Parts: sequence; structure tokens; C-alpha cells
Amino acid sequence: MKVLVINCGSSSLKYQVLDMEGEQLLAKGLVERIGMDGSVITHTKVGADEKWKNVTPMPTHKEAIAQVLGAIVDPEHGVLKSMDELDAVGHRVVHAGEHYSHSVVIDDAVLKVLDECSALAPLHNPPNILGIRACQELMPNTPMVAVFDTAFHQTMPAESYIYALPYDYYTKYGVRRYGFHGTSHKYVAHRAAEMLGLPESQLKLITCHLGNGASITAIKNGKVVDTSMGFTPLEGLVMGTRCGDIDPSIMTYVAEKEGLSNEEVNDVMNKQSGVLGISGISSDFRDLEAAAEDGNERAQLAMKVFAHKVRAFIGSYIAEMNGVDAIIFTAGVGENDMGMRDIICDNLDNLGIHLDLIRNRTRGKEAVISADDSKVKILLIPTNEELMIARDTVWKVNELKNSQH
Ligand code: ADP
Repeated sequence: MKVLVINCGSSSLKYQVLDMEGEQLLAKGLVERIGMDGSVITHTKVGADEKWKNVTPMPTHKEAIAQVLGAIVDPEHGVLKSMDELDAVGHRVVHAGEHYSHSVVIDDAVLKVLDECSALAPLHNPPNILGIRACQELMPNTPMVAVFDTAFHQTMPAESYIYALPYDYYTKYGVRRYGFHGTSHKYVAHRAAEMLGLPESQLKLITCHLGNGASITAIKNGKVVDTSMGFTPLEGLVMGTRCGDIDPSIMTYVAEKEGLSNEEVNDVMNKQSGVLGISGISSDFRDLEAAAEDGNERAQLAMKVFAHKVRAFIGSYIAEMNGVDAIIFTAGVGENDMGMRDIICDNLDNLGIHLDLIRNRTRGKEAVISADDSKVKILLIPTNEELMIARDTVWKVNELKNSQH
């Protein structure tokens, strides 16, 4: 089965084409500046020496998807002979509220639900829906599947997702913790079980997705019991530019002091905080490390605050699950930043966590990086959300076909 995976944002979209016989990536690409001057597609065929770029007007997502389809069947740069070879499309969708705990084949009823959930994810769901509608117009007979960031976390028990606010806010407005990055946490949890040679149903895992956005999830017997992001992706860890957990009173205090509107405070918490806010230098850990090495104290402090928060979550999740079998590091920082992994795992011997400093000198590839005497395994697993989306797409499309027979 050949699957197109689409991750559609408001002015950009990423895509991959995979052959699911053997789970081979065939091509991938990026469309930028949709609806602006200078719309551009950058397409890479696996094995080709060069990327292919095409600057052409794309006033809406429909033209952007048309360019993607053109690229993947192009005689020179393409990977399919014709669109008939494409069996299904998998769409990344951020928010499904409490409606779906797994991926679904998209029909009108599903689109209606996603529209309703736009209120909970106003920046993400509307462009996701635009991408789906554009694909439906251009490929009316191709089955499409929605894979949600929130779905994997739907197993969380109420004590993990209910805020200590008036209960009405939950029932009237859906104010609860949802969690995000679910597709990534699910993927690395599956891989961890494979690497450990044990079924997920027998494992207690803590998955650390540390990228520009960062979240941690506690997974017991294959089910999420807690995750650090909440109603929005602002909660939890310190991130590149997001503040994570803070005392909520700071919002009104700062708004009054600085004369900021609600929207402006929200913007500060999302875009000017995190390690960028503390360091005043950058949200990128490579820049922070360079500055820290040069003796910049605020860069050093930003990294310490980040690590402190990750450790606090690891500790609380070990308590929640009454133990842990493996801690998994993934995403940009988790996969590449050996210094940060070292700080996070330092001095946790009492919890049975012992990083091997030599094995930890690995970047961007799967590895066991704990010492042989570590009771808790520490794993480095590069995430692959697109592959997870493609797998779910195959699963759901096969299920649909079987139900029609
Ligand atoms: P997102 O998908 O949330 O945008 P990523 O998972 O791609 O983020 O992570 C991006 C971040 O990873 C960068 O901002 C940077 O901080 C970090 N990163 C990437 N490569 C390295 C590296 N070699 N060393 C340290 N940090 C890195």
C-alpha cells in the first residue's frame, strides 16, 4: 500500500510518500508561504542527489496540494507512475477533543467533529481541515485517515486530566488536560518495547519528547497514565519559547504591570518565554550550549531550569507508576543533545537510573545508553511521526475494506 502523509499548517505543509510494504520512505517535501508571495515547494526523492524546488503561486491549500501531487507523479522527480498508485492519505490532525482515542477514516461526520474541536485548537485544527478538504477535492476516491495528536492520551484517568477548577468549566467548555505529541510518544513507546523484547502490556515507560515543543508521558501497560502538556501545549516542561508550568497569577500580575492585553500576555508565554526568555539569547539548544561554554550565565541557567523540570516530571511519573522500566529520549534535543541527557540523568542512582557516559555519545540513532548495572534502561529513539501516521492509515483503510466485504 502506498500512502501520502500530510501535515498541514496555516502557511506551510510537510508531506511524505511511503511504500508500506517494507515501510520504505519514497519521497518527502515541504511547501512554504501558502497564500503569500513566493510560494515554494521543495521536494526530495529518496536516493536523488538534489532537492527539487519550484516557486509558483499557491494562493490556497488546494494549489499547494496540487503541487505536491504533481511532484510525486512527475516523470523525473516523482515516485509514482500515476495517482492511481496512491492507496490512501494520512492526515496529522492536532485536536480531537474527547471524541477519538484512535485514528479514524475521514467522512462528513468526522469533519464536523474536527470543526467543533477548532475552538480548542484555533491555530492548528483549521489548517489541518483545509488540508483534508483540498485533498478530498483533488482525490475524491482516495480514502483518507485522520491521526490525532491527542488520541493516544485519551486513556488518562480523570485524576490526571481534571483541573482543580469549577467542574462546570470541564462540562461546559471542555477545559481539561488533553496532552499533545501523542503520535510521537506512541511511536517511541512501540519501538522501546521492541528494543526491550517485551510486550508493552508489561512495561512502565517514561517517554521524553524534547524538541522545540517538549512533553513527557508516563505509559503503563501500553496506556497513558499522565502527560505534561494540558489544555494547550503551553503546560508542563520549559520549552524553546513556551514557559510551561507557572503560577497562573503571574498572567494577571504581568498584564497589569506591563499594560498588556490577554492576547499579548498569551503571546509572551508562548513565544518569548522558555529557554529563550531566561537566556535572552535563543530558543535553540545549540546556541545556548555555545553561549554557556563561553561563560554566559543566563544560558547556563536556562539549561539548568530546563533539566530541573524534566527531572521533576520523571520523578513524579516514577511515583505515579510505582516504578519505571525504561526512559526514552526523542525529538531534536532528546535525540541530539548528549550534554542535556547527561544533566537530566545525573545523580539518579538511587532511582536505579544510571547513564553510560560513553554510550551516551550518540546522536540521532537508536541506542541503549544506560550502563549495564542500570535497573532502568535509558533509550535513545529518533521519533518518526510520519511512519506512525502511515501505519495507522494502513490499519484503518484495511479495516474499512474488510467491513465492506
Ligand atoms: P519541533 O518539531 O518541536 O520544532 P524538533 O524536535 O525538531 O522541534 O527540535 C528542534 C530543537 O532541537 C532545536 O531548536 C534545538 O534546540 C534542538 N537541537 C537540534 N539539533 C541539536 C543538536 N545537535 N544539539 C542540541 N540541540 C539540538
